[in-house]
Amino acid sequence: MEKNKSLFSTQKVLTKTNFPFILPSSTIRRLFRQCARKRGYGMSQVLDLVDLRVVELAKQLQQWFHKHAELGWQEEETMEHVTLVLNDGCQLNPRQLKGGIVCDIVNPDLPGTPMIGFRADLDALQIQEKTGLRCASRNPGVMHACGHDFHTGALLATATVLAANRHLLARNIRLLFTQAEEIPPGGEPELIRARGADGLTAVYGLHVITSAPEFGGVFPTGTFATRVGNITAHSDRVTIRLECEGGHAIEVRQKGSLTDAYSWWVDKLRAEILNPIPGALVHPAVPTASTQAPNILPSWLEFVVSFRAVDRENYEQAVCQLARIADLFRKVFPTTVLTIDHPTGHIPTFNDPAISLTATQAARDVLNWAARSNTVITPPRVWTDCPQIMGGESFGRFDHDFGIRSNYMMIGAGGITDDEQAIHGHGHHTPVFNPDERVLPLMLAYWLALAMQL
Ligand SMILES: [Zn+2]
Ligand SMILES: [Zn+2]
Repeated sequence: MEKNKSLFSTQKVLTKTNFPFILPSSTIRRLFRQCARKRGYGMSQVLDLVDLRVVELAKQLQQWFHKHAELGWQEEETMEHVTLVLNDGCQLNPRQLKGGIVCDIVNPDLPGTPMIGFRADLDALQIQEKTGLRCASRNPGVMHACGHDFHTGALLATATVLAANRHLLARNIRLLFTQAEEIPPGGEPELIRARGADGLTAVYGLHVITSAPEFGGVFPTGTFATRVGNITAHSDRVTIRLECEGGHAIEVRQKGSLTDAYSWWVDKLRAEILNPIPGALVHPAVPTASTQAPNILPSWLEFVVSFRAVDRENYEQAVCQLARIADLFRKVFPTTVLTIDHPTGHIPTFNDPAISLTATQAARDVLNWAARSNTVITPPRVWTDCPQIMGGESFGRFDHDFGIRSNYMMIGAGGITDDEQAIHGHGHHTPVFNPDERVLPLMLAYWLALAMQL
């Protein structure tokens, strides 16, 4: 019942905006045609397509996804909603594959020609929201605290414009909505295996950033950042399991406890990897155990380590150290059975030089347009050599697994004035994460600018 009601509310959103771009006016058609013919010239006019109605649509969609936050590999309602908007709102034919949804927007005059991909991610995180927003997550303990609701909302709203003008597109476009980005290796390897990336010649990703340590803190609304080469890091999830006989708490002097063994690991990971290797990072999560009772010595304890490195060299060094720590552990705790499961997670996203040039140009077009239309007051900036971030990304798989040249762009959403930054500048994966919604028109404009770039 609740599900039907929520689907209906988006129908209402779409109807309220009167499907503005399903039947575009002759002016819109003319602008698109001009742009297509002049290969980029007149871009700012095309970006005027980002009018208040489509921005409102993006906002409504983003808020819907925020409210219905779902964890990776459990994005059922989210995917149903994406499919509904693409079907009913855009008259497209989305395909649900293992790993996500793909949807082609094809110019009928250009059938079978290569495609470029625009990618958004769908999943939320295991966090209890504390923003107090009206659209706060209704799912306890699950929150969009990385902006994936912005990515999906903005790309869907863009789809309405692109679908309405598909016969004027210079390149066919595939939208990719991927699952479980936050759970390495994420949805991309599955999506690629399910042939969701077949026929793509390039793929673009866009991520909102409110604040990042690598960028010196708050990242102001409307600033773009990218770089050629590796832009994100290796990111694995290493599961460490400790097992012993267990027992009564009064035996702790004789037997020791797995909580001691866990503390030992936490100290060693910091001393042997985090502190001495600046290009690597480890964070052991809070453990789970056979019991929470203080009068029982647990018989097993398990914890997952976020294991990251900027490049292959640092990664291998950290892997080596991890093996050394494990050897030492077996000597210090001879009666405890240690099992380590270390699958490959995210590999660094490599930004191709040529594709990045196109992305950078699109970002510049957007900022010129924004300055002219007063869409957002910002010191305009496209940072083309930003530092590599320690964040992982499943997006890197398109290039790594399938050889599709790609660009990953980041866009600031941390507010502009001090007061705004106090509200919007909270870090990713915090319960108060709250990006500046004025980033939405810029995201829409970015996708449109890319669609018209050749
Ligand atoms: Zn994240
Ligand atoms: Zn993210």
